[in-house]
Amino acid sequence: MARVIAVANQKGGVGKTTTSVNLGACLASLGKRVLLIDIDPQGNTTSGVGINKADVRYDIYDVLINEVNASEAVTDTAVPNLKILPATIQLAGAEIELVPTMSREVRLRQALLPLKSQYDYMLIDCPPSLGLLTVNALTASDSVLIPIQCEYYALEGLSQLLNTIRMVQKHLNTALEIEGVLLTMLDARTNLGLQVIEEVKKYFREKVYSTVIPRNVRLGEAPSHGQSIIQYDPRSRGAEVYLELAKEVVGA
Ligand code: ADP
Ligand code: MG
Repeated sequence: MARVIAVANQKGGVGKTTTSVNLGACLASLGKRVLLIDIDPQGNTTSGVGINKADVRYDIYDVLINEVNASEAVTDTAVPNLKILPATIQLAGAEIELVPTMSREVRLRQALLPLKSQYDYMLIDCPPSLGLLTVNALTASDSVLIPIQCEYYALEGLSQLLNTIRMVQKHLNTALEIEGVLLTMLDARTNLGLQVIEEVKKYFREKVYSTVIPRNVRLGEAPSHGQSIIQYDPRSRGAEVYLELAKEVVGA
C-alpha cells in the first residue's frame, strides 16, 4: 500500500513543488513506484514533469468535482516509475465548488483509495493556502512533509498550518502524522540560514530531516525544461541532495 505524503505549507515559494517533483523522481530512481498528485491550480508540478497542460484529458478537478476515476486521469512521465495525476487551471474553481458538495473534505481520499495498491509513494503537492484543497490533501494522507525556506520569517505562519493539521487530526484523519520538516533554499554564505536551521530544529527537533536543500541554480532551471533535476542535471548538487532526501524518506 502506498504511503501518502502531503507536501504542504500555505506560504508560496518555499519549495513545495520543487520538492514534490524532485523527491518523487528520486524515489522513482530508487525503484519505488511513485504517483505525484498536483492539487495546486497553478499546475507547476504538472508542467515540471513535462506534461503539456493543453494535452491533459482529465485532471484532478475532474476527479474531485466530476467524479472521473482517478485511474483515468493518471498520466505517465518521462521518468520510469513516476506517474502524475495532473492539475490544470480549471482546478482554480474547485476551492469554491467543493463548498456545497457532499463529503467535500474526503473526496481526494476516496478517489485515491483504489490506486493505493499500485504505488509505494503518493506525493501530493498542495496549493499555497489552507483551504479545502489542502484539507483534502491532509485528509487523504498518512503524513505531511513541511518545506521551510531558510529565510528570516521562516516560522511565520507555521502555527496556522499546525492548527489546520490538528483540526484534520481531530475531525477527519486521526492517523495523520508529521513526516518531516525540510529546510530549503539554504544560502550557505550567510549566517542567517544557519540561525534559521537552529530555530527550526528547536521547534521540530527530530522531525527535521538531516538533508538540507541548498540554493542551487540548476534546481531553479529544471522546471522550465519540464524535467526533474535527475534528468536535467544528474551531477548537480541539487540532484545529489534530493537523492539523499529520498534515501532518508525511504529509511524513515
Ligand atoms: P512552492 O511550490 O512552495 O510555491 P517552488 O518549489 O515553486 O515553491 O519554488 C519557488 C521558486 O524557487 C521556483 O522558481 C523554484 O524553481 C525555485 N527554487 C525552489 N527550490 C530551489 C532551490 N533549492 N534552489 C534554487 N531555486 C529553487
Ligand atoms: Mg508550488
